Amino acid sequence: MSATWVITGATLPDGRRADLVLTGGRVREVAGAGRADVPPGARTVDADGLVALPGLVDLHTHLREPGREDAETVETGTRAAAAGGWTAVHAMANTDPVADTAGVVEQVHRLGVTAGWCDVRPVGAVTVGLRGERLAELGAMATSAARVRVFSDDGHCVADPLLMRRALEYVRAFDGVVAQHAQDPRLTEGAQMNEGEVSAVLGLAGWPSVAEEAVIARDVLLAAHVGSRVHVCHVSTAGSVEIVRLAKARGLPVTAEVTPHHLVLTDDLVRSYDPVYKVNPPLRTPADVEALRAAVADGTIDVIATDHAPHPTEAKDCEWAAAAMGMTGLETALGVVQEALVDTGLLDWAGVAERMSAAPARIGRLDDPALGLHAHGRGLVEGAPAHVTLHDPTARWTVDPAAQHTQGRNTPFRGRELPGRVVATFLRGAPTLLDGALVDPGERA
Ligand SMILES: [Zn+2]
Repeated sequence: MSATWVITGATLPDGRRADLVLTGGRVREVAGAGRADVPPGARTVDADGLVALPGLVDLHTHLREPGREDAETVETGTRAAAAGGWTAVHAMANTDPVADTAGVVEQVHRLGVTAGWCDVRPVGAVTVGLRGERLAELGAMATSAARVRVFSDDGHCVADPLLMRRALEYVRAFDGVVAQHAQDPRLTEGAQMNEGEVSAVLGLAGWPSVAEEAVIARDVLLAAHVGSRVHVCHVSTAGSVEIVRLAKARGLPVTAEVTPHHLVLTDDLVRSYDPVYKVNPPLRTPADVEALRAAVADGTIDVIATDHAPHPTEAKDCEWAAAAMGMTGLETALGVVQEALVDTGLLDWAGVAERMSAAPARIGRLDDPALGLHAHGRGLVEGAPAHVTLHDPTARWTVDPAAQHTQGRNTPFRGRELPGRVVATFLRGAPTLLDGALVDPGERA
């Protein structure tokens, strides 16, 4: 059982100042600042000037284990998560072997428990081997000890409409969701970057917006037809935003996410030919960035998810065409979100809490106690599990890849100054990060 911690004078997402008493793994009391009843022996954190957010929940993380431990392990990835303020992450299925059986998802789940840095919810593959040919054992993964609720072939699109329909029908039985990597494979053959003015100048093969938008349009109609939930991974274009907005206006069961990097970076950066900017979906145009920011602000986009994609140095340290796609993101996400959305006045901290904790937990059914797992996304309210992120919005820091906890050095923000710094993370009332330093499981009080 963890010790009692009292966080004093924190600013809650709604702007109130409060003391938080954490004991027995739960939030025992939320009192006005300076008014908490501090039990004897309690440890305190002075949170004057800090924003207290509910523990962040990432709906889209690549932890790479099993099979690609040269890129990341569950241990290193979840250390990075704790450092970035995350208390739960969904681990994508494109590992080696692919997480397409109960055995593999249980292995990933167990590795997360053993590491102890945050809760790891495995994502199950939709199709065997991510090959898009036949459905994986979705039911067995759902009833396994990992209790999988999110299924995705991420990295690949479930392109076959009949397979997509069958997957949606299957997951409906246990209230699961299919998270689609929307990319028409035929329209993006050989694609190297966003199709547009910059790709024309550079002579690189383009990934057109319509390849994403066409799949989203099809999938929301399929989900509506089946009566099942579909979630769109990493929305990247203004046109995709319009389709999701239209679908929501019609009451269709769709949710959507955006990555921090798509909220600030554009395809103009590709002119450098630096593979750190190579990502899927690709960086788009300033108009797309503007539309994505507006969509997060008005709730069309439900979730900000990292798509943390670490790679070994040699996979990025090569010419553009040969480089792997992906960027790390767990340790920079909150700073980028502050810069893009909070400091610009588009979103308040309550909106951040909704997009980075409550909504992803709801979509992944992490808020469901019936799953018998540890609830997330219930907010900083009395009785809720004590997952807390303390963020200093006045801090500024320069991103140094070598100083990060992820094994991946492929951050597009290296050398860049970001606003806001995560200073503490509490998982079930015990600190995984304190005063900006990780706290090893054996040393947690
Ligand atoms: Zn993807």
